Amino acid sequence: MKTSVIGYPRVGCLRELKFASEKYFRNEITEEELRKVSIELRKQHWKIQQENEIDFISSNDFSFYDNLLDTAVMLNIIPKRYIDLRLSDIDTYFAMARGYQGENGDVKALAMKKWFNTNYHYMVPEIEDDTHIKLNASKAINEFVEAKNLGINTKPVFTGIFTLLKLLRYTDTKCAEDFADEVILAYSDIIKKFDELGAEWIEFDEPCIVKDLAADDIKFFNKLYSKVLNSKGNVKVLLQTYFGDIRDCYNDVAALAFDGIGLDFVEGKKSLSLIRENGFPKDKILFAGVLNGKNIWKNNYSKSYEIIDELQKYCKKIILSTSCSLLHVPYTLKNETKLTEEYTKYFAFAEEKLRELRELKEICSSKIPFETEVYLNNKKIFNSDRNCSNTDVKARTASIKNEYFTRQPEFSKREKIQHKELNLPVFPTTTIGSFPQTADVKKNRSAYKKGNITEKEYIDFNRKKIADCIALQEEIGIDVLVHGEFERNDMVEYFGEKLQGYLFTEKAWVQSYGTRCVKPPIIWGDISREKPMTVDWSVYAQSLTKRPMKGMLTGPVTILNWSFPREDISLKECAYQIALAIRDEVLDLEANGIKIIQVDEAALREKLPLRKSDWEKDYLDWAIPAFRLVHSGVKPETQIHTHMCYSEFTDIITAIDNMDADVITFEASRSDLQILDALKENNFRTEVGPGVYDIHSPRIPSVEEIKEALYKMVNKIPAEKLWVNPDCGLKTRGDKETKPSLENLVKAAEELRNESV
Ligand code: GLN
Ligand code: ZN
Repeated sequence: MKTSVIGYPRVGCLRELKFASEKYFRNEITEEELRKVSIELRKQHWKIQQENEIDFISSNDFSFYDNLLDTAVMLNIIPKRYIDLRLSDIDTYFAMARGYQGENGDVKALAMKKWFNTNYHYMVPEIEDDTHIKLNASKAINEFVEAKNLGINTKPVFTGIFTLLKLLRYTDTKCAEDFADEVILAYSDIIKKFDELGAEWIEFDEPCIVKDLAADDIKFFNKLYSKVLNSKGNVKVLLQTYFGDIRDCYNDVAALAFDGIGLDFVEGKKSLSLIRENGFPKDKILFAGVLNGKNIWKNNYSKSYEIIDELQKYCKKIILSTSCSLLHVPYTLKNETKLTEEYTKYFAFAEEKLRELRELKEICSSKIPFETEVYLNNKKIFNSDRNCSNTDVKARTASIKNEYFTRQPEFSKREKIQHKELNLPVFPTTTIGSFPQTADVKKNRSAYKKGNITEKEYIDFNRKKIADCIALQEEIGIDVLVHGEFERNDMVEYFGEKLQGYLFTEKAWVQSYGTRCVKPPIIWGDISREKPMTVDWSVYAQSLTKRPMKGMLTGPVTILNWSFPREDISLKECAYQIALAIRDEVLDLEANGIKIIQVDEAALREKLPLRKSDWEKDYLDWAIPAFRLVHSGVKPETQIHTHMCYSEFTDIITAIDNMDADVITFEASRSDLQILDALKENNFRTEVGPGVYDIHSPRIPSVEEIKEALYKMVNKIPAEKLWVNPDCGLKTRGDKETKPSLENLVKAAEELRNESV
């Protein structure tokens, strides 16, 4: 039995790539220096896989920003506006990823979207009618050769042709079908090239086929691959799927000329039964994704063995694999110096997963699998008591009453009461919460964490920041203020640290997008709140201003979705536990004079099942109630805001209205405000603040541009329901661009007010 890894994380176990890229963006290092860092990282990542005897190691899983963007660039799918900047190749690439504002022009970044049901975000490439598809596989080739020089014959990985064509944005009149022939040629060429280079395998990733597929999709998929696979030669082709099962096209995939099929046995609830019911083609190899590529818990060897054992009845040849790319888990437990063995023995990060693959290989290859030492050690862990229950929490969650899910009075009545109470102008301006996390803010936090300054010094510094932040907002003229979130490293980790039941890591970073990484905390046991978590900061901030200060919390679904969840209780139970803790915080804020409380659900959509048919019964049926549980106890005059990002939520718009918040702000500026139509069509009741500019880029939006966006909004949204705000928190921005951007935002709102009287 052999082992395979779909993809390895690439930012570096100490985020080396992030820091190097940021230096490059600031012109502190050259392109060559940046490339050097990347070469070193790839080498490390291949070596570690080699040391763990992984038989199928990927290349081209590396990226300077995003793999889908790499694929687009490889095919010359570069919108004209970026070419017109006349930058170097790498700067054109970064202009697409991050936007560009400088001597050569002013262009926004491409849209960014959530990568399936993960917290990774990909860039949405745009294809124009006159885009001429032309293969330039130099990145993939260089990386393949690099590995070869290290003695590793890798399998280069590419976004599959179907997934690519599905995820592209067609900006003009042509559609996927129109480009199919050209793209097929390019993909055939890729196969040929790597055949010539001596690759044994090449991998095409097709996560799109785990979604609900229409008959036309399946037809298209068949057409694409029957042509692409025509030119196969010696190199073997692996069709890799992940994030679910391929129930809609299993037999089609099985009938095509792939040499290997990669299926997900972790999230693919039906993967096993598909094989049971349909068999598995004799001439193909199954890459069995039994090792969870998304969570940090150790693999239960006995369960994995059971699956493999059954699969052996149907498949002649099986390769042990991860369920998806390891991009979604942190690098290694080795850098965790604070977590004791008592905890870490339950975990496996990327590097430890490699070892698990090796151990599983040993078990599966053994004549006495259940007697191998690795098997027995693993069994001991799963049989031990983790000591993670809290009976009070269990009792409280079990006794949640139905009325806890409904806020009184109904929305329309509250809306009137709140307008009177808050007395805000039309088109009230606000921000999403965080202000720039500048070097001094980070330094203060890390000095405190290291014990170099006292708690008082730490707090005093942040209080000063809050005071400055409030003065700035008042100077700019924002209506509803925020305290700036300087005390927070991350919107989830902050709460995790205060809640009981959470565990923390030091270096367990996971890439969220580009150079941005997050460090999701681990839900270890039952969750409870010991004492208020944010009240002091909010009360202090409110004491400095007459304007309303928003209390700022993260919602239960986001806390859950951005943590590594338990695997021993349901997500629903866990969400309700967190919801009750946040509910207590909401009520404490209210009791302490905070009139507006924002409960961010940035990641509400994150765990939405990929198949629409599963949305309601497998997710929304507990995710929305969890949010309602948080705020149903407040007074009518307390205004509850929520915020969401990156999401396409036109399709869950009624569910969002059903969260029964009073105001929702969301990311819209990158998606051309398409959501406005959906709001209108669905008679969206909640007040809304669709982001008027993109905070993921350092460029400063002009007043005209913001007004332009606002005009579109007032056309679709009743004026008395419209809020004016950026599309997300400002923490990744610098002070330099923040002030002028917000000044322009306020100016745009003021002009609009004047025009509409
Ligand atoms: N309140 C948070 C902030 O402003 C929201 C962040 C987010 O939506 N990702 O940083
Ligand atoms: Zn956001």
